[in-house]
Amino acid sequence: MTLTPPPLSNDCFALPQGVNWTPVDEALALLRGRLWPVTGAEAVSLSEAPGRVLAEDAIALRSNPPQPNTAVDGYGFAGGRSEGAHVMPLVAGRAAAGVPFNGAVPPGQAIRILTGAALPEGVDTVILEEDVRTDGVSVAFYGPLKSGANTRKAGEDVAAGDVILPAGRVLTPADLALASATGLAELLVRKPLRVAVISTGDELVEPGAAAGLGQVYDANRPMLLALIQQFGFQTVDMGRIKDDRAALGEALDQAAAQADVILTSGGASAGDEDHVSALLREAGAMQEWRIALKPGRPLALGMWQGTPVFGLPGNPVAALVCTLVFARPAMGLMAGAGWAEPQGFEVPAAFAKRKKPGRREYLRARMRAGRAEVFKSEGSGRISGLSWAEGLVELPDGAAEIAPGDPVRFIPFASFGMG
Ligand code: AMP
Ligand code: MG
Repeated sequence: MTLTPPPLSNDCFALPQGVNWTPVDEALALLRGRLWPVTGAEAVSLSEAPGRVLAEDAIALRSNPPQPNTAVDGYGFAGGRSEGAHVMPLVAGRAAAGVPFNGAVPPGQAIRILTGAALPEGVDTVILEEDVRTDGVSVAFYGPLKSGANTRKAGEDVAAGDVILPAGRVLTPADLALASATGLAELLVRKPLRVAVISTGDELVEPGAAAGLGQVYDANRPMLLALIQQFGFQTVDMGRIKDDRAALGEALDQAAAQADVILTSGGASAGDEDHVSALLREAGAMQEWRIALKPGRPLALGMWQGTPVFGLPGNPVAALVCTLVFARPAMGLMAGAGWAEPQGFEVPAAFAKRKKPGRREYLRARMRAGRAEVFKSEGSGRISGLSWAEGLVELPDGAAEIAPGDPVRFIPFASFGMG
């Protein structure tokens, strides 16, 4: 009897039947509902604060401006002026930023005043210096001028006691200006989320090492470690682990002791050498998420000694897409920053594509001349396409037939927190 290979089935490229493929949005909603912040808090000075997550609402200690002041260089006095010519005597002295005028300006008189100076008693209105003539004794100008012109009211920007920044805010350089201006020198921020990264596979070798037949350089670990840094989290590099259950179990033990989240790549399917999913299943805390997503499956989610594990696919393209789409918002939530929705834009396609219903697809893409181009190949091992891309085109779960010029959703990598 001769051994013959099995015939190809007609639907060999169709999605498996009889299993439930969870739509992306449903999977995201599940994650969002089940995770919460896990990081503690610490007070840091403003210089240490950029990129950190605010742990509580920040309250203004002082108003901005703290007192009424002038927005321009000019001459100050009380009240507006009607249409027509006005001449006002000047009081001796002046008011400058940081050097206030000590004394009151009598009604009907004016004072020299410079931008940022606190308004002296008796001044609520300022005329621009370009609009007056002066001999040093009096000023002459034409009205009309509204009462309060060219001045800033105390607290018109922020009042003491206002919430200036909400808990969960990822602090920006501008936030530091706001905090400082309103009297804050320290902010209570969350400790950074610690994220362990493990690459799995007998075939992997370290970048720069000699690579023999059948070996490939570990591409996922450098990418994931850099990405975690860009997300503002702390990296815990656990290295490469062989396809060996005991070694992987030990690595997971160590990672769980040092990190708040563990990202593994490779070995997340249901095959003989898929030890990540096997171990998580053994630990009894494995959810094999059959997510209707391309590229992406499989994604194994589980708990290892109380620490969530994202078992990412080994293919670098799928590993990155799963990290951006699933792991990043989940980690943001755990870091205390809330759930981040990537911001997409409807743009005309520069490509044609027909897509079957049943799963969402993410294509490596970039914007050129106002249209979204996609990479020439959808192969999930094509690392060059990841590097070529500047974002992803998201195609809906249902069927789609896209012709050049049709609107598609483009999500820049920056919207996923990747620079
Ligand atoms: P796996 O998910 O372990 O079945 O791996 C799927 C594919 O991704 C295989 O071709 C692996 O060699 C490749 N792969 C897994 N991990 C990495 C990695 N860290 N860097 C580059 N390729 C990888
Ligand atoms: Mg593998």
